[in-house]
Amino acid sequence: MYLFKKVSDLKKFVRAQKSEGKTIGFSPTMGALHDGHIALLSASQKVCDISIVSIFVNPSQFNDPDDLKKYPRTEGRDLVLLERAACDVVFMPGVEEVYPANRKEMPKLDLQGLDKVMEGAFRPGHFDGVVQVVKRLLDIVEPDKLFMGQKDFQQFTIIDFMLSVCQMPVQLVVVPIVREPSGLAKSSRNVRLSAGARKKATAIYKGLSELKNALEHITVEEAVTNFNESLKKAGLDPEYLSIANGKTLRPVKDYQKENYVVACAAAWIEGVRLIDNMILKQ
Ligand code: AMP
Repeated sequence: MYLFKKVSDLKKFVRAQKSEGKTIGFSPTMGALHDGHIALLSASQKVCDISIVSIFVNPSQFNDPDDLKKYPRTEGRDLVLLERAACDVVFMPGVEEVYPANRKEMPKLDLQGLDKVMEGAFRPGHFDGVVQVVKRLLDIVEPDKLFMGQKDFQQFTIIDFMLSVCQMPVQLVVVPIVREPSGLAKSSRNVRLSAGARKKATAIYKGLSELKNALEHITVEEAVTNFNESLKKAGLDPEYLSIANGKTLRPVKDYQKENYVVACAAAWIEGVRLIDNMILKQ
């Protein structure tokens, strides 16, 4: 496994591989790796000759400085996991490599409201940071395929939009959510939870799982109220549940009339913010 920290070294490597006709798969991460990240790598390994994983905790997507400070960093362990999973290349740049002082600032993309709902409503500026870093990483790595998790539904939807608006020759592959046996979605933030909180947090998955059935009989508003109540009962502090059109991310009024519906939720427990989602109709 190769480890590159410099943009120039990574670019040289990729150029050499491409000149041999090899295809490149790229999975960007912020480290503190778990099976969800490894699923991206595995998906890449199935269809690409060379699989690259980046580890970069991007400051520009954290609207809360405390969250950035507390974000788990487990670089040594991450490298062991990636080596074990037969990753070809790890790209671990410093902030100054990704955002050199002399760089030309990319104009802000109009995300046509995709960034204003759900996560965007609670984390102002978050998606500007995400778009900025993914665009920059794609310009560096120039992969054929980009692997992202369904876990961050709004994120992959926005990146898909960016790829099409910027006409980037990259194919986005979305990898299903990897969960704990309890149903809790794997997340780097889970390590900050006590055993008790991990148990309580399974209420998010349980609540999401009940929605599909419930929405055959009750309204969207009633379903949202029931979901929030069930989370509160379990000891969580629900932030939002959005039952939205999977393409526009706009809230759905009449569930029966839609044909692509996703339920996205965020909730707090022990000062940790967890997100999850479930596709209800596709
Ligand atoms: P992160 O390191 O949290 O920024 O995540 C990096 C990538 O891994 C993103 O595309 C995430 O959607 C994806 N990811 C994180 N957790 C999971 C999971 N439990 N299942 C599938 N993909 C995931």
